[in-house]
Amino acid sequence: MKRIGILTSGGDAPGMNAAIRAVTRRAIDNGLEVFGINYGYAGLVAGDIFPLTSDDVSDRIQRGGTFLYSARYPEFANVEGQLKGIEQLKKFGIDALVVIGGDGSYHGALRLTEHGYNAIGLPGTIDNDIPFTDFTIGFDTAVSTAVDAIDKLHDTASSHGRTFIVEVMGRGAGDVALWAGVAGGAQKIIVPEHDFDIKEIAEEVKVGREHGNKNMIIVLAEGVMHAGDFKKELDKYGDFDSRATVLGHIQRGGSPTVQDRVLASKMGAYAVDLLLDGKGGLAVGIENNKLTSHDILDLFDSKHKPDLSLYDLNESLNR
Ligand code: ATP
Repeated sequence: MKRIGILTSGGDAPGMNAAIRAVTRRAIDNGLEVFGINYGYAGLVAGDIFPLTSDDVSDRIQRGGTFLYSARYPEFANVEGQLKGIEQLKKFGIDALVVIGGDGSYHGALRLTEHGYNAIGLPGTIDNDIPFTDFTIGFDTAVSTAVDAIDKLHDTASSHGRTFIVEVMGRGAGDVALWAGVAGGAQKIIVPEHDFDIKEIAEEVKVGREHGNKNMIIVLAEGVMHAGDFKKELDKYGDFDSRATVLGHIQRGGSPTVQDRVLASKMGAYAVDLLLDGKGGLAVGIENNKLTSHDILDLFDSKHKPDLSLYDLNESLNR
């Protein structure tokens, strides 16, 4: 193996740049050449591919987003697109590919592997919704951003005695809501993986207000429903002076936290080590603070499970 390629795909996540840097530096350190591919699978098929040096990745670790850009390119689900991509990789003499992205990006990597081309996936998504890893690159930063916003909402909630419904990202997964809810001192956390009853929640809010709690924060995962719709439902049971706040894309941006930078650096270096060992078709993860790798195929037979003990913890801290 002489050359490896690297791309970022799907939604951007803070720490992707740190991962690109780690892959590039570890590979160069081991005598490999590295090629960056712009705009994910779209750039791969278009041949938007260029050599990456150690200098190219300096001054990147602290920056959010991805300097290789990202793209959604559904055409890569077609065999034609996949074969075109492999043709480009061969044209540039690239022997193996590191893909940083979420679930969809892993499907692309799996397809390449099925065509006999070596690809390795790194979990880069703020949603933390990938199986076989406790944490994904970008999750910690997104949660920190959400908590920062919740802290600010506490100030205004307590000044006016308002109830805030804060919608956080996470797609179909409740991880961002669970972590941000516990860390932000939310009274309630609503996630897709746990039942809830708006009438009961309204009753709890009412009792809380009667007991002088002027500072009600409900953290709602976007995968459940929109904050505005939740507010409408809640308001049917009383006047809680409620406000719906959607944090939105600010959760994707910003300088990655220490946790994400270190995770991305570890995973990036590990991916190159695996490739140097002749291994591929793998998804890198971190489980119980240990780097792991699993067959990408196995990933799609398993389901990510959020840490629901956080839900119970939050309930017990708000009785
Ligand atoms: P995130 O969930 O953080 O947004 P993601 O990687 O899941 O990240 P997607 O938009 O689902 O984001 O997928 C990214 C890209 O992966 C797609 O635009 C497409 O190029 C490729 N991809 C998705 N699904 C497949 C598939 N079934 N086969 C091949 N390629 C795919």
